[in-house]
Amino acid sequence: MANKFTFYNTLSRTIEEFKPNEEGKVAMYTCGPTVYHFAHIGNIRTYIMQDVLIKSLEYAGYEVKRVMNITDVGHLSSDADTGEDKMVAGAKREHKTVMEIAQYYTDAFFKDFDAVGNKRPDVVEPATNCITDFIEMVETLLEKGYAYVAGGNVYFDTSKLDDYYVFSSAVEKEQLAVGVRDDVEEDSNKKNKTDFVLWFTKSKFEDQALKWESPWGEGYPGWHIECSCISKRHLGEYLDIHCGGVDNIFPHHTNEIAQSEAYFGHKWCNYWFHSNHLNDQSGKMSKSKGAILTVSLLQEKGYDPLVYRFFCLQSHYRKPLVFSYDNLDNALQAYNKLVKRVSELKADGEVDGAVKAEFEAKFLEAVSNDLNTSMAITVLYDALKADTNDATKLALVDSFDKVLSLDLINHAATLAEAGTSVDSDLEAFINDAIARRAEAKKAKDFATADAIRDELLAKGVEIKDTREGVVWTLV
Ligand SMILES: [Zn+2]
Repeated sequence: MANKFTFYNTLSRTIEEFKPNEEGKVAMYTCGPTVYHFAHIGNIRTYIMQDVLIKSLEYAGYEVKRVMNITDVGHLSSDADTGEDKMVAGAKREHKTVMEIAQYYTDAFFKDFDAVGNKRPDVVEPATNCITDFIEMVETLLEKGYAYVAGGNVYFDTSKLDDYYVFSSAVEKEQLAVGVRDDVEEDSNKKNKTDFVLWFTKSKFEDQALKWESPWGEGYPGWHIECSCISKRHLGEYLDIHCGGVDNIFPHHTNEIAQSEAYFGHKWCNYWFHSNHLNDQSGKMSKSKGAILTVSLLQEKGYDPLVYRFFCLQSHYRKPLVFSYDNLDNALQAYNKLVKRVSELKADGEVDGAVKAEFEAKFLEAVSNDLNTSMAITVLYDALKADTNDATKLALVDSFDKVLSLDLINHAATLAEAGTSVDSDLEAFINDAIARRAEAKKAKDFATADAIRDELLAKGVEIKDTREGVVWTLV
């Protein structure tokens, strides 16, 4: 019997108690990346918070099956089906084929996805594997009168629905109905402004690389249809939780609901879980603003990817989070202190079952209360301060880390073994910084040498010049 679990459901705009379709089991779908470019750390924040949701549900006693798509066709530069296919643009940019681009950025995505401690979905399905599923769903939507063919493309007719703007309040619905997509070029084939493409045969781009035979001519699927089909293929007609970022709510998730419920003839997904944006100091992080800040880049700068995870867990998933290196350095120092604290625990004596159960209940209460991760971390600190033996504290760290995935026990063991050691990324960075500082000093560039010392200090590393050379300690 699973424990009580609540979180914010975008569909009802309230925090609700979670009730799955099948007792103790969760059918979960996650929108995956469009693999035309790197995933930035804001994208990865979304996947970290989803990972915490899954692990929290498991902690509460649920069994979760999670499916994720990989968008490798059909996602145009505007989510509203206009502009160039992102994959084609990516291939052109890098003088590669679309499939080469897809493979390269899928691998890059999972490298960063794994590095921040996420568990891989049970099923990962590229859109190009499911073309026959898309065609079948589009055919059924046409038969049922929810779709029409115009100008060679197949469109979903949003006027056939009683409530198209399912996620919006009454006020927002009015605003959306008036202002919808005024910012993008008009497609004269559409009967209604909000209609969207299910299947393209007439692309404005003759060089669309991937095309398939269909009853409507050679073409390729729209972006929204793939999530409905891939979810149906692996999770059936009823979905418990659908996840994504807040920018997916409209139009992508709105359109997924429109076509899935028109196809099935009943309600499809009961709970919608959306994480908020990561902003940098200039605003929302995006891929169009020059260099893309990735987890791999943070790693190159000497940050353990789990420090980025810790940084994300300190805030609530429904609030926008501001990224800066100062903020990340604060998280780094707190993480190092936490690891140090854990490394000082000795596995002595028996675990006190009553104390362990008491703290585990507090931890579960935090995560099952709309995923209050900062409260969950507070429970971890409280457990480390509690009036109990080290064996119990270690058991609690191990237990909480099933959800937090900060790898605390392993990092602490490494630290204990090596005295003042740190993880290999930071160690490489420290060694490099020390070498750069030596060069600067040799060249009598003391300003640079001092700047490097300060840079290290910001990461919680203090260096001292001794007769034996430079030594460093964590502060
Ligand atoms: Zn999707």
